[in-house]
Amino acid sequence: NQQVVLKDYVNGFPKESDMLLKTSTVPLKLPQSSNAVLVKNLYLSCDPYMRGRMSKNEGSYIGSFTPGSPIAGYGVSKVVDSGNSNFKKGELVWGGTGWEEYSITAPETLFKIQHTDVPLSYYTGILGMPGMTAYYGFYEICAPKKGEYVFVSAASGAVGQLVGQFAKLTGCHVVGTAGSKEKVELLKTKFGFDDAFNYKEEQNLDAALKRYFPEGIDIYFENVGGKMLEAVLLNMRVNGRISACGMISQYNLNEEEGVRNLSCIVMKRLQMKGFIISDHYDLYPKYIEMVIPLIKEGKICYIEDVAEGIESAPAALVGIFSGKNVGKQVVVVARE
Ligand code: NDP
Repeated sequence: NQQVVLKDYVNGFPKESDMLLKTSTVPLKLPQSSNAVLVKNLYLSCDPYMRGRMSKNEGSYIGSFTPGSPIAGYGVSKVVDSGNSNFKKGELVWGGTGWEEYSITAPETLFKIQHTDVPLSYYTGILGMPGMTAYYGFYEICAPKKGEYVFVSAASGAVGQLVGQFAKLTGCHVVGTAGSKEKVELLKTKFGFDDAFNYKEEQNLDAALKRYFPEGIDIYFENVGGKMLEAVLLNMRVNGRISACGMISQYNLNEEEGVRNLSCIVMKRLQMKGFIISDHYDLYPKYIEMVIPLIKEGKICYIEDVAEGIESAPAALVGIFSGKNVGKQVVVVARE
């Protein structure tokens, strides 16, 4: 059983060498009394929140990984043996699993996969946690209306590419930002954003936002934080809404950057609401009902960046913090 193990707690930017590959043995059957589910992992999901778990963090909403043990995350798996009556051998599931070929998982973290006529890897993205994040963060938190001006950061990523498409389906004017020419092109040509720009090429983010939003921003889907949030606050319209989904630009910092524009939240009567998507998985069936037809009718598309083999997992995970991924970063461990 090949595993990806965290060597020690990480400070600053994570490196491939913070993880190592280890081989362990795995039981092929669970003990009689077990309530757990033994799975074979097929796809592993690389997600920004995993960076927080690599640090020694007390008081976070989710615990740290244990140095010397395999790291954990979301994945798509096949049930090999089950001590839980809700899951049967041979079934496909998505949810919490280890970064290894086989894992013993807790049944309460698993969702059964009902639709298999779509790519299975989608359950790490559009049909899994990032999809739910885009759905909840945009529709429930931003309460979008036709004609509103929407701005999305990390817009070509697992979550952002969907937020942009949902905003277009709602009839909004959508502009996205991403960190390369290739990603900006994708936003405009593949995902249907009205416009897009590369934030790395802008000297002055405030001036860039004034260029793309001369009338201001009604909805900001926040994925990056830091300087971008500072600039966005100045450009929000009165009564705007900000979905505080994530702040990836802050995850590898050792020291806090100074902030100045937070008082805009008061002056402009903004709503900026944070959320953790796992609190809202009760809405998953409603989301699936909405999104499966959109995929099948070709009304929504999803781009993945697929790394082959568990040995490529550390580099794939580290890569999302420097924007190497184009679309949702997935690791294939096995195809069946
Ligand atoms: P992505 O697939 O978008 O990958 C991360 C991307 O972030 C990179 O590709 C890179 O794109 C961008 N990025 C990395 N570092 C920086 C930086 N310093 N400044 C600006 N952009 C940066 O990830 P997801 O779509 O999965 O996640 C997007 C955000 O949503 C994250 O903040 C994540 O933590 C959050 N999230 C929150 C959830 C919740 O429950 N609240 C659930 C899921 C995700 P680029 O080339 O454009 O810079």
